[in-house]
Amino acid sequence: MSDYRVHLQTLRRAFPQPVSDQEHDAWFVFSMLRALDQLDAMKSERPILGEPAATDFRSAADRRVPEETGTVESTARQLVDYFSGMFIWGHPRTQVNVIPPPCIPGILGTLLPAIYNPNICSEEGSRGVSLAEADVIAMTAELMGYDPQRAGGVFTFGGTGTLLYAIRTGIEKACPGSLRSGLAGDPPVVVCSDDAHYACDTAVAWLGLGSDNIVSIPTAANNEMRSCLLESELNRLAAEGRRVACIVATMGTTDAFGIDPLEQIREIRDELVSRHCLDYVPHLHADAVIGWAWSAFRDYDLQANSLRFPDRTRRALAWAVRHIGQLRLADSVGVDYHKTGFAPYVSSAVFFRDAADLQLLARSPSTTPYLFQSGEYHPGRFTLETSRSGSGPLAAFASLSLLGKTGLRTLLGHLVTMAELLRDRLQSHPCVTVMNPENYGPVTLFRVYPPGVDTFEIPQRELTDAAMADQLRQHNDYNRRIFELIHEEALRGEGVVLSMTDRWRESDYGVPVSALKSYIMSPFSEEQYVQAVLESIERARKRIAGGD
Ligand SMILES: *Cc1c(COP(=O)(O)O)cnc(C)c1O
Repeated sequence: MSDYRVHLQTLRRAFPQPVSDQEHDAWFVFSMLRALDQLDAMKSERPILGEPAATDFRSAADRRVPEETGTVESTARQLVDYFSGMFIWGHPRTQVNVIPPPCIPGILGTLLPAIYNPNICSEEGSRGVSLAEADVIAMTAELMGYDPQRAGGVFTFGGTGTLLYAIRTGIEKACPGSLRSGLAGDPPVVVCSDDAHYACDTAVAWLGLGSDNIVSIPTAANNEMRSCLLESELNRLAAEGRRVACIVATMGTTDAFGIDPLEQIREIRDELVSRHCLDYVPHLHADAVIGWAWSAFRDYDLQANSLRFPDRTRRALAWAVRHIGQLRLADSVGVDYHKTGFAPYVSSAVFFRDAADLQLLARSPSTTPYLFQSGEYHPGRFTLETSRSGSGPLAAFASLSLLGKTGLRTLLGHLVTMAELLRDRLQSHPCVTVMNPENYGPVTLFRVYPPGVDTFEIPQRELTDAAMADQLRQHNDYNRRIFELIHEEALRGEGVVLSMTDRWRESDYGVPVSALKSYIMSPFSEEQYVQAVLESIERARKRIAGGD
C-alpha cells in the first residue's frame, strides 16, 4: 500500500461509518463517553470545571497546525482541556448573565446535526431537517400570539442577526428598492430606547446607516421607553422629512428586564402614519430575545394558579405577561432560544407577523444558479447566511417539545420565585438598594453602600441630583470593589458567581450608574444559594472595611 493509503485507512476510522458498523459505532459513542467522563471528573461542589487558573492568551500565538495526524482520543483530550476553569451555568451558585444551562434534548438537537450535517439553506441540503425549522417557527409564532398561517420566520446567528433582519426589512419598507440601488440622500433612522441592546448599534452600523442615525429615546426609572418622548421624536423626524427604518421595542432589557410599552408604541406609530400621511409604515420590531418565553403564560390562569406559584411570583408573572402578551402587535419579533429557552448556542429566530415581509429581502433567482433545483422550501433565497446549521432549529424544537408550556412556566416561575426571594432579602438589608424593583424577572440589579450611607435617600438622589456626581462615582468604585472581591472568591470556587454592569443606566445628569447583577438561570437554584449571595456581600464588605 502506498503511504497515503495507510494514512487514509487510519483517517477513515476518525469518521462515522457511512454504512453502520456496530463495532465502530460503539467506539464512536465510547469516544464521546470518554470525553464526557473526563469533563465530569472536572466537576466538584464548585460552580466551575476543574481548577480556576488564569487563561494564558499569549501562548496562543505559538500554536501551530501539527505535522502529524493525531488520534481521536488525543484530540478529544485537548478539547476537554479547554474547559478547565469554565463556569457551570447550571450550578445554583452561578448567577452571571442570561446564559442558560441547556437541557439534554436541546443538547441532542445540537449533537445530531453535528453528525449528519444538514444545511438548512434549502430543503435540498437538509431534507426533513428543514421541516424542524418550519415547525418551530409555527410553534413559537402561535405561542407569541401570531397567526401561524400568516407568520413566517427563519433561524439566524443570534439576537444580533434578528435585529439585522428586522432593520434591513424596515429599510426596504422606508426606502423601497434600496436592496439593489443602495441608499441615496439622508439614511433612514432607527429608533430605540437608551436601554436597548448594543446589537441595535451593531446592526445599524453594519447596514451602513451609521450609528449616528440611531435615535435613542430615554427610559423611565422602570427601564421602559418613555412613550411620550417617542411620540415627540417621531413627529419631529417626520416634520423634518426623515424616514424611519425601524422602531425597536425592547421586550426584556439585558440588564434590568425592562419591557417597553409595545401597545402604546404601536398606537403612536399608526397615528404618525396617518397624521403625516406617510407613504410607508415604519417597521415595528420587538427585540424579545429575552422576554419571548413569558408568552407561555399568556393562557395560564394566574387566578386559578394551578401550579401553585407563591403570591409574589404570581404578581411578577402578571406584570411580565401583561407586556409580553402584546408581542403579536409587532411587525417582527426576535427570539433567542439560547437565552430563556434552555437551548445551547446558537439558537435564534426572527419572526414576521406577515411572512410576505421576508420576500422584501429575496434575491433574484439568477444569482443562485446552482441552488434550489428541487423541493419547495428554500429560505436561502432570502437569508443573510448561505450555509445554516440545523442545530438552531433542532435544539429549539427539542427544548420546546421537552418543556412544553408547563415546563417553561415551571422553570421561569421558579427562577422568578428565587429572584423575588433574593430581592426580598436584599431590600431588607440596610446597606443595599435594589435598582430595578419594578422589573419582575430573573435578574436583580443592586448597589451596595458603605457603612453609614443612608440607603433610603442616597440611591434616589444619586440618580437625579448633579451635586451627588462625586458620591455616585465613589459608590460606583465601591461596588466595583465588592464585585472584584466576590469574583475572586468565586474563582476559588467559593461563594457565588455574580456579574456587574458598568452602566445599567445614566443618572439624569449623565454619569453612568453601575450595579451588581444576579441573573438566576439555574433550574437547581434554591433558597440556600440566594442566601449565599448575601453572605458573599457580607464577606466582601468586611474585607473592604478591614482595608482590602
Ligand atoms: C442578548 C441580547 C441581544 C443579542 O443577542 P445574541 O443572541 O447574544 O446575539 C439583543 N438584544 C437583547 C435585548 C439581548 O438581551
